[in-house]
Amino acid sequence: MADIQAVIFDMDDTLFPERQFAFSGFAAVAAVFQQQLGDVLTATSQMCAMFDTPNRRRVFNVILEQQGLPADQHTIDRMIETYRTHQPNINLFEDAARALSRLKGNYKLGVISDGPLVMQQGKVKALSLRDKVEEVILTAELGEGFGKPHPKAFEQMVERLGVEHQACVYIADNPSKDFVAPNALGWLTVQIVRDNGIYADVKAAEGGAAAKEIQTLDDIEKVW
Ligand SMILES: [Mg+2]
Repeated sequence: MADIQAVIFDMDDTLFPERQFAFSGFAAVAAVFQQQLGDVLTATSQMCAMFDTPNRRRVFNVILEQQGLPADQHTIDRMIETYRTHQPNINLFEDAARALSRLKGNYKLGVISDGPLVMQQGKVKALSLRDKVEEVILTAELGEGFGKPHPKAFEQMVERLGVEHQACVYIADNPSKDFVAPNALGWLTVQIVRDNGIYADVKAAEGGAAAKEIQTLDDIEKVW
């Protein structure tokens, strides 16, 4: 097996539970829009309950409709803004915290993550990731159109860490987009399959299946 020198992680649902961010965001929206949504705890739990339903993508529309209010675009946009910019109350998965401290010093570490820039920056800050890894690349920082599966973030990571593609491993959860570029560049790819992972069941993209699969980040080093 290749001589692995750098371990790069996806962020959402790889290092921390994405649903934790969502619930934290719903609580923020409930607090800011209390006048419209009524009791904060009730509204929060109503929104959280929608997370595991097909309404996940229209939570704010549905909660407004449930209050008998028009789901006008201006209000929805302000709710999305609140959700994305709130200071999230999130924590690393326990095995992720263990992995980051165990690997630090033995490997170069990095994070490559997609998503709206302020929202992802809020997550990086809340998780103190810049203290835990050498390089964090948020694809939104690179400009339009460089999100996964575009290879630019992976090429930049190799440059910034000063390693060869073949010496890198990418660990992520979503086979529909996460592994296409690193596979093509010659990285080792590893899918973390968690019970509650949002993308645990999605189909792999063409060329996007991970080379290896693990159930816990405690097993990372076992795959090479
Ligand atoms: Mg992910």
